[in-house]
Amino acid sequence: MNTAYKKPLLFIAGEWREGGEGTCITVRNPATGEVLAEVPRASRQDLDDALAASAAAFEIWRRKSAIDRAAVLRRAAELLRERAALLAPLMTLEQGKTLAESEFEFLHAAETFDWYAAEALRANGRVMPARLPGARQMVLMEPLGPVAAFTPWNFPAALPARKIGGALAAGCTVVIKPSEETPASAIALAQALVDAGLPAGALNVVFGVPAEVSTHLIRSNIIRKVTFTGSTPVGRQLALLAAEGVKPCTLELGGHAPVLVFDDADLDKAIATSIQGKTRNAGQVCTSPTRFIVQDGIYDAFVRGYAEAMDQVVIGPGLDPKSQMGALANERRMDAMEELVADAVAQGGRLLAGGRRAQPKGNFWRLSLVADVPDSANAMRVEPFGPLVLAKRFSTLEDGLAEANRLPYGLAAYAFTRSAATAVAVGDEVQAGGIGINTFAVSQIEAPFGGLKDSGYGKEGGHEGLEAYMHPKYVHHVT
Ligand code: NAD
Repeated sequence: MNTAYKKPLLFIAGEWREGGEGTCITVRNPATGEVLAEVPRASRQDLDDALAASAAAFEIWRRKSAIDRAAVLRRAAELLRERAALLAPLMTLEQGKTLAESEFEFLHAAETFDWYAAEALRANGRVMPARLPGARQMVLMEPLGPVAAFTPWNFPAALPARKIGGALAAGCTVVIKPSEETPASAIALAQALVDAGLPAGALNVVFGVPAEVSTHLIRSNIIRKVTFTGSTPVGRQLALLAAEGVKPCTLELGGHAPVLVFDDADLDKAIATSIQGKTRNAGQVCTSPTRFIVQDGIYDAFVRGYAEAMDQVVIGPGLDPKSQMGALANERRMDAMEELVADAVAQGGRLLAGGRRAQPKGNFWRLSLVADVPDSANAMRVEPFGPLVLAKRFSTLEDGLAEANRLPYGLAAYAFTRSAATAVAVGDEVQAGGIGINTFAVSQIEAPFGGLKDSGYGKEGGHEGLEAYMHPKYVHHVT
C-alpha cells in the first residue's frame, strides 16, 4: 500500500473522512497490476453532507472579494509548484503516463489556478446608457451557486483544476467526483487549496459508484451547475439529469480529431510533431490526433516515415526516465486497441506499425498505424482513445475538408501546410472547437476549450471558462 494514501480519502466540509458506505474501489498500477490503494465509496449521507457544506460555504465564499478569492488560488498554485516533483510519481503510478508528463501536469494545474486567480479580478459587469435621467442600468456578474463536477482518469490533475479553478474564481463552491481509478491527484489539489486557506466546504471531494453519485448530486436542489469531462454517452445521461432541474451544463466529451496533411507540408516537421502528439498520454487524450487525412503527393512518404518513427518510441513504465510513452490507464483501453486494430486490418487496412502489446505484462501497447482504412472500419468512427493512428488519402482541398467534417464529433482538428490560404480554408471550414495549424496545442488555459456536436458544449479556459460559472444579473435602478 502506498504511503501517500494513509489518510482517509473523502474530503467533506473541510475534513478528511472514510466513506460511510463501507465498501471500497481498488486502485491498481496499470504498469504492473499492483494494488496501490482502496478508495472508499461515499454513502448517501456523505453526499448530503458534501451538498450541505457546499451550500453553507457558498454564502461565505461568494461574499469574499475577488481579490481574496484570487489570493487563495494563487497560494494553492505556489504550493502545487513546490510539490509537483513529489506528487508526479503518484500520478504515474495510478495512471501510467511518464513522470515528465505527470510533473508537467501538476505545473499546468498550478498555471490554471494562477490564470483563474487573475481572471477573477476581471469578472466585470457593465453599465449601459440609461433610458431615464438619473437612472442606472447595470449588469452584475454573479456566481451561479454550488457546482457538481465530474472528471475522468486521463488528466487527473489538469481536468479537476480547470473546473475547480473556474468555479472558485467565480465565487461558486464545488462538489467534485474525480475518477475512482486515479484519486491521488484531485486529493493533492484539495490539500493545496486547504493549505492555501480555502474555507471549509468550498471544495468537497467524493468517490463512489459514478452513476449513483452523479444522479444524487445533480438531482439535488443545492446544485446549480453541472460540469463533466468524459465520454459522449455518459455526457448525454448527465445532460438529461441536469435538464430535469433546468441546470446549465458544461460538457467536454469525446473526439476523433482529423489531421489534414497537405502536399506542401514540411514532411519531417509533420512527422516529428505527430509522434509527439500521439505519444502524449499514450493517445488517451480527447484531442489526440487520430484520423490522418493525407494528400496524394505526400501520402506514401508520410505514412512510411510516421510508421518508422513510431517503431523508435521507447515504451515502458512511466517511472523509468528512458520511457517516452507509458502504460495505458486500464485493461479497457488494451481491449479496445486489440479490437479496433483487428477490425481495421480485417476490413483491408494495412498495418504499418505496432498493432500489438509492447510487453507481455502491464498495459503496454505499441504506437500503431493502420493505413488505407475504409470508412466502414469501427476505428474510423469510434474514438480509439489510445495509441492508434488511422491514415487515409485525399486529393482535393474539398475532399479533405469533407472527410475532416464526416463524423459527428467536433472537438479538435489539425492541418499541416505551408500555405496561408490553405490554413485559412481549414480554419474557416472545419467544424471543431479548436484548430491547430502545424501544431497540436489547442488547449492552453488562456484560450477557450470545448467542442461542438457530439463533443459537447460550453467552454473551459479563457474568459469563457470563468463566465461558465457566472450569470449576468441585470439591475435597473431608477431614482
Ligand atoms: P466511461 O464512459 O464509463 O467513463 C468515462 C468517465 O466518466 C470515467 O471517469 C467514469 O468514472 C465517468 N463516469 C462514468 N459513468 C458516469 C456517470 N454516470 N456519472 C458520472 N461519471 C461517470 O468509460 P471509460 O472506459 O472510463 O472511458 C471510455 C471512453 O470515455 C473513452 O474511450 C473516451 O472516449 C471517453 N473519455 C473521454 C475523456 C475526455 O477527456 N473527454 C476522458 C476519459 C474517457
